[in-house]
Amino acid sequence: MLITLEKKIDKKEMEELNLFFENKLMKLNKVSDDTYLIVGDTHLLDQQTILALPGVIKCIRINHPYKLASRDYKQDNTIVKVGSASFGDGNIYFICGPCSVESNSQIENIASTIKDAGANVLRGGCFKPRTSPYFFQGFGEEALECLVKAKLDSGLPIVTEVVDTKILTNPLINDLDMIQIGARNMQNYELLKEVAKLNKPVLLKRSPSATIEELLLSAEYILKEGNPNVILCERGIRTFEKSSRYTLDLSSVAVLKKITHLPVIVDPSHAVGDYNFVSQMTLAAIASGADGVMIEVHDNPSQSLSDGFQALKANKLSELIKKGQEIKKIIK
Ligand code: PEP
Ligand code: MN
Repeated sequence: MLITLEKKIDKKEMEELNLFFENKLMKLNKVSDDTYLIVGDTHLLDQQTILALPGVIKCIRINHPYKLASRDYKQDNTIVKVGSASFGDGNIYFICGPCSVESNSQIENIASTIKDAGANVLRGGCFKPRTSPYFFQGFGEEALECLVKAKLDSGLPIVTEVVDTKILTNPLINDLDMIQIGARNMQNYELLKEVAKLNKPVLLKRSPSATIEELLLSAEYILKEGNPNVILCERGIRTFEKSSRYTLDLSSVAVLKKITHLPVIVDPSHAVGDYNFVSQMTLAAIASGADGVMIEVHDNPSQSLSDGFQALKANKLSELIKKGQEIKKIIK
């Protein structure tokens, strides 16, 4: 249960409230200036009784394990602003760029091409969480410098993945417009809590083995820290099917849009793992109601240091974005 309190609730009323819940072996957990989560076994609590308590102006029962992420808590879409993009406002936004930042010239060329094609946000991996320890692990802080430089040169906002808390003290982190939590770290709760505290938009990818409820509970970790700017990302789940890298679960987009107010985007690149299918699945993702898509794009895919086979050739992006915008117009 969530309660909203009067802005001017006094100390004595607050003590009375705390005592009421303590006597019932419950506790009030502050989630924002005036909103508190009642923690404990709340199923026998009566809403009218709570509303009669001093200072309480609103009380809602949320019958899901996730609370702040639920549409019961907030009916209107949350809009997450990244540069001039407003994810969740009913339009479609494109996050594009290479799997990994490989050099200054590589990221600058790609940034300029995707900007001309109409993309809204530049992506590029610096710290790569690879399945095999023998695969390219990213150029790390050096790559981060290149990405920030590409932001300054192109004017595009940037997003990159962080894989641990150590990097969060690097001053270049301040230049990121959004921080990505990758699929492998969706349930790294300590990382989620620390990233949330930076008060920047967080792009949270679904782990390939996570249920929708688990994804929302991970989002809850960020929201609970007082950071409302979370974008959820469907990037394919693991099934018995082997003909694509993962199985792109587009029904999750429809389900998520119903049960949460958070924006939902789709990454077709990691889901299908093959550039031949990326355009089709991008359009399908938009048709399913996504607020954005994240597409891996490279100027020279065969030379890419990671995920080259799924990279869309940069010169193909402009046409795809135009088609995507048309589809969004139809389904709006
Ligand atoms: C990525 O977007 O660079 C990435 C590694 O994706 P995922 O976490 O979905 O595997
Ligand atoms: Mn990749």
